[in-house]
Amino acid sequence: MAEVIDGKSVAEDVVQKVKALTADLSAKGATRPGLAVVIVGEDPASQVYVASKSRTAKECGFHSLQHTLPAETTEEQLLKVIGDLNADPSIHGILVQLPLPRHIDAGKVIQTIAPEKDVDGFHFINVGKLGTGELETAFVPCTPAGSMLLIERVRGKDLSGLNAVVVGRSNIVGKPMANLLLAANCTVTIAHSRTKDLPALARTADILVAAVGRPEMVKGDWVKPGATVIDVGINRIPAPEKGEGKSRLVGDVAYADAAKVAGAITPVPGGVGPMTIAMLMANTVASAYLAAGLKRPSF
Ligand code: NAP
Repeated sequence: MAEVIDGKSVAEDVVQKVKALTADLSAKGATRPGLAVVIVGEDPASQVYVASKSRTAKECGFHSLQHTLPAETTEEQLLKVIGDLNADPSIHGILVQLPLPRHIDAGKVIQTIAPEKDVDGFHFINVGKLGTGELETAFVPCTPAGSMLLIERVRGKDLSGLNAVVVGRSNIVGKPMANLLLAANCTVTIAHSRTKDLPALARTADILVAAVGRPEMVKGDWVKPGATVIDVGINRIPAPEKGEGKSRLVGDVAYADAAKVAGAITPVPGGVGPMTIAMLMANTVASAYLAAGLKRPSF
């Protein structure tokens, strides 16, 4: 059976390190890290994510600010909020919770965030830095950055000679994940909905990352024996065995079968999920270090 990669424990290590770095900043007389989370509207899932981000920020000792704006907020009003946060020296990270209401151009909002405060790593400047290998100063999207830390726990930092297959080509997971693996010297293939014979391609992967959004799509016989399998997917499916109307979370990988073949695998929940918020904290403390003219800490 595969080693189970414990994302909760790795995420906890990251948060502990962020706490220590925050204390170190204040010992040096620098401004404590400030994270602003902006949410527009009342999407219940977004409310839960935002509350969790704000709670972890406080736990890390950050200055934590939350802007909860009504659904009818105009794009202009939101851009003004972002502009004010860009100019506020007590804020080092700005996160706009997606999705935004339809009448607001999310792309425009994201590109308005100052790149040095873009702790989600979605600004073109940060995307470009990651794409060109400027990892010292780039902010990398939190989910792939966290997935990479999990891979490093199993395989080390240099992945030379390994084949990686990333299933999914989204801007927030698949593409940045592929760039990180490339920067670590993997030979990388990105697969997507138009890829031919995905099972055969997946079987070539020493590192297989699934970021698709389809429950248990990646089967056990798609996995190369000994592979490291990172399951980014979070899918809620009906679970009548738990009672009427109940549901449960599964990943994009058929876990029970894949775990019989893989060398190491992330569970869902408890794998990649907890890493996302932890890496948001890591990016924010890194931003505070850079703003103070200090060397960026690594994780
Ligand atoms: P997305 O934007 O919907 O992208 C999904 C990707 O999967 C697309 O590139 C799509 O291909 C590809 N795809 C869809 N069906 C496929 C198929 N049958 N075969 C091969 N590829 C297929 O999703 P995302 O934002 O990247 O998220 C992916 C999953 O990760 C979701 O379950 C999401 O909930 C989860 N997620 C988790 C976290 C976390 O914190 N753990 C964070 C973000 C996302 P095309 O481009 O050809 O359409």
